[in-house]
Amino acid sequence: MYPQLLQSPLVVSGLEAIGNYHLNIKMLKPLIPSEDSLLHNKIKKCSYDLDRSKLSYTLNENMFHHNGVGLSANQIGINERAFVMMIDIESQETITCFNPKIIKESKNQVVMEEGCLSYPDLFLKIPRPDSIIVKYEDEGKNIFKRRLEGFSARVFQHEYDHMEGIDFTQRTINK
Ligand SMILES: [Zn+2]
Repeated sequence: MYPQLLQSPLVVSGLEAIGNYHLNIKMLKPLIPSEDSLLHNKIKKCSYDLDRSKLSYTLNENMFHHNGVGLSANQIGINERAFVMMIDIESQETITCFNPKIIKESKNQVVMEEGCLSYPDLFLKIPRPDSIIVKYEDEGKNIFKRRLEGFSARVFQHEYDHMEGIDFTQRTINK
């Protein structure tokens, strides 16, 4: 009908230019304080009736908003065993992992500097296995088993720790 309007990302269904911004804001949730108990206790398996698509969308929105490479549901106050992570930094492709598990870890450990959205401005050297074999479910409850190494293995392990109520300050070799 009005192709010039449809092409403009800032004008959506009759809202003013700021409308699109508001639509995005609605999905954003604040990061909970690092001392909140939700970040320090093991998160139980996903609720049976969890709207996985909605949670995946919310996690992606919030991760990109905060310029993170991974974000766990409990970091934004959602008590579900799920996180989103970038599987490839260049393409920015993400996966959302529900009920994630680490099945096997390589003996070979590497030290890398990590940050965490729950601890702004804190960067710590953390040793972790270089490669892992993981299992997780997707939005449709399909089960995936895959081997991750390097960057993706690092992010998975960091987010997996959040599921277990562990944060990176407990793993650092800085102290
Ligand atoms: Zn973190």
